[in-house]
Amino acid sequence: MHINPYGSDKASLAVGLVNADPGIDPPAMGELLRHYKTTRPTVDAEETADLLAWAAKLRVVFEAADLDERIDVLNRLLGEAAIQPTIARHDGEMTPHLHYSLDTDSTVKRVKARTATGLAHVVCASGGGRLGCCAREGCTTVFIDTSRNGRRRFCSTQCANRIYVADHRARRRA
Ligand SMILES: [Zn+2]
Ligand SMILES: [Zn+2]
Repeated sequence: MHINPYGSDKASLAVGLVNADPGIDPPAMGELLRHYKTTRPTVDAEETADLLAWAAKLRVVFEAADLDERIDVLNRLLGEAAIQPTIARHDGEMTPHLHYSLDTDSTVKRVKARTATGLAHVVCASGGGRLGCCAREGCTTVFIDTSRNGRRRFCSTQCANRIYVADHRARRRA
């Protein structure tokens, strides 16, 4: 059971991938995947390129102009990810839960399935508005809005502060 319905590991992995440096090398990509609890996270150059191409597609989900577009894009990605739901229990230790890919699938396939379903859960649990892209011009960082009122505009307090300071200066000049 997730305590925060918008902040699952799978959705966080999607955010991490989209925000990854496009020049990321395979060892760093492996670290990123490991950080978001991906099993068998080691990837080669070709797999890293596949994941970066996938990340570019995921970005469109965050940047979508409206909910219709967001859902269209995400539905296409769910199809492309070739989701295969199975119920898993991890040697009986945990309560049964859904997996969206097989443990035997390649790392790229599992990451595609996890990220697409992770974002789909956020969209469905939140009414669609909890995925965002930083509103500061020149910042392309995406995020999941876990704020109470769901009106977060910036990726970080640094970006928010830079806008605040710029606005303040503009007002003083005016
Ligand atoms: Zn599991
Ligand atoms: Zn930002």
